[in-house]
Amino acid sequence: MQKYISQQNLNTLLDKLITKGIRVVAPRISAGIPLYEPLKCSDEMVTDQLPRRSAKEAFFPVCEEIMSYEKEGQQVKLTDVDPARFPETVLVGVRPCDAAAIPVLDAVFSWDYKDEFFLERRRKTTIIGLACTTADDACFCTAVGLSPAETRGSDLFLTLLDGGGYACESYSEKGEALINGNGELFSESNNAVPFHLAAPQAEKIDLKKVKAWLDEHFEDPLWDGIAVRCVGCGACAFVCPACHCFDIVDEGTEKNGKRRKSWDACGFWKFTHHASGHNPRDLQPKRYRNRIMHKFKYYDDKFGQTLCTGCGRCVRICPVGIDIAAIVDEINKK
Ligand code: SF4
Ligand code: SF4
Repeated sequence: MQKYISQQNLNTLLDKLITKGIRVVAPRISAGIPLYEPLKCSDEMVTDQLPRRSAKEAFFPVCEEIMSYEKEGQQVKLTDVDPARFPETVLVGVRPCDAAAIPVLDAVFSWDYKDEFFLERRRKTTIIGLACTTADDACFCTAVGLSPAETRGSDLFLTLLDGGGYACESYSEKGEALINGNGELFSESNNAVPFHLAAPQAEKIDLKKVKAWLDEHFEDPLWDGIAVRCVGCGACAFVCPACHCFDIVDEGTEKNGKRRKSWDACGFWKFTHHASGHNPRDLQPKRYRNRIMHKFKYYDDKFGQTLCTGCGRCVRICPVGIDIAAIVDEINKK
């Protein structure tokens, strides 16, 4: 179903949801940086800046408590965090490269172990995507088969129209329910000409060809050459909408404490450090190789999908200028 919603009515919708106690998460400026965060009112939403970090943290927070423990005499009392307490959420203004990564994450979080912390938030969240009207030199969604108007992962999708307001298309029951429950704010599509969409300049990458090369080149001089600069800061994984590694650590004393789940990154030296002292990825090129292999080979082997949506965040953030798009393009041209 395609509808039209004015900017004013979109703001009214978000304010109405906030008043009802629904958590509305959108890009907003936080300490000078655009981030996806809960809004206090619709005026806080910014639509012209790509958030520094991705939307994945609406489902997979940077750090969260999953259990606590307390020792009472000889007994240890364990208290689980109940995912049922997670609030109903509307995630709005989500860039196509972020929304498209969420179904990619579904595969791993509902695979052999069902991660109820992720899945319960997924069940309770309606995602409103927003088409991009600008792209910078780091954007390469079109190179990996997506686009600035990609609707994958969105329950509702907004496209800014010439003259203001948005074309609004629903792609799921959640999206239709949001429209039907707020019908007075939507009107029939006015057939206005869509605002021009962003046009990332990156050339299309043949992901099958890249994977076929990776299948045969676990050992290759390429890895030493490209990764020698990597300082293992992990920033690339932390800004990525598709990276999903985490660590579980108990923090506290012998009397009480909490078990926490926190983001981790394969670029870190300790990521594969065994208790024995052995580290199978003892050098940074092996760790950077894993990053490329995981995104363009291992995830595809396991789930038939590429673990990169071309958002370009890792390219922008890398302190030493490592450019994953250029590396994959180089492999593509071999
Ligand atoms: S690997 Fe880089 S470009 Fe690809 S989705 Fe992650 S942050 Fe974005
Ligand atoms: S952001 Fe750059 S330097 Fe930091 S781990 Fe990633 S590739 Fe290495």
